[in-house]
Amino acid sequence: MGRRMKITEHLLQLSGVQYETNSNIYAIQYDGGVILIDCGYRTEQWERMTAQMKEWGMDPGEITHVFLTHSHFDHAGNVWRINELGAKVHASPVDADRVENGNPEMEELFGAPWTCGKVDVLLREGERFSFPGGVKLDVLETPGHSSGSLTYRIQVDGKTALCTGDMFFVTPRAPLDAVDVELGYMGSRDFSMESFLHSLKRLEKENFDLLLPGHYYFYGGENAARLFGMAIEKAEKGAR
Ligand SMILES: [Zn+2]
Repeated sequence: MGRRMKITEHLLQLSGVQYETNSNIYAIQYDGGVILIDCGYRTEQWERMTAQMKEWGMDPGEITHVFLTHSHFDHAGNVWRINELGAKVHASPVDADRVENGNPEMEELFGAPWTCGKVDVLLREGERFSFPGGVKLDVLETPGHSSGSLTYRIQVDGKTALCTGDMFFVTPRAPLDAVDVELGYMGSRDFSMESFLHSLKRLEKENFDLLLPGHYYFYGGENAARLFGMAIEKAEKGAR
């Protein structure tokens, strides 16, 4: 099993390159269960994620909530498995529609059939969820990578973390002077450079301690906000 990825006492990374799986899945433990950010795809990722949970002393049956950053295959393909566990799935309305009614663009892109799932709660800008034990989660609409892409601002263990999905990734790992950013996939049918830049500029103003992207490494170093500036610069170059 890969290197353990405990980010703070109650915030963990369960999936991603460290575990030789595609997308990142983050878990937040609160007094009452476990919240997941995204849920990956395919059986292999599911098995590695649940094995990692067990290694941390958690049971998949403790998952109560899943918040999707967006409905691309690698982030939302396992929603139907979450449904089987009985946890509540949260997504933007446009992503909920794809999860529930079919995702042909993703079937084409990934060459695999989409198994429809159910979304329990539709999310809108500004909604706040509070969980026992002092965990808070805010919903920010940040379209661009896809039209329904959401960012979650999470307060846990005295830290503020931003889960930004596939806007951009941090690579390679810290220290900051060696860090670069890589913009996420821009080939979606509903990609919008204008919205993407707008979302990046909005998030650049956020105060946060930890950046938790949808792939590769999380970042918790000083001046994390600078990463948004780096992404904006790359996006503006690409847009010209
Ligand atoms: Zn994506």
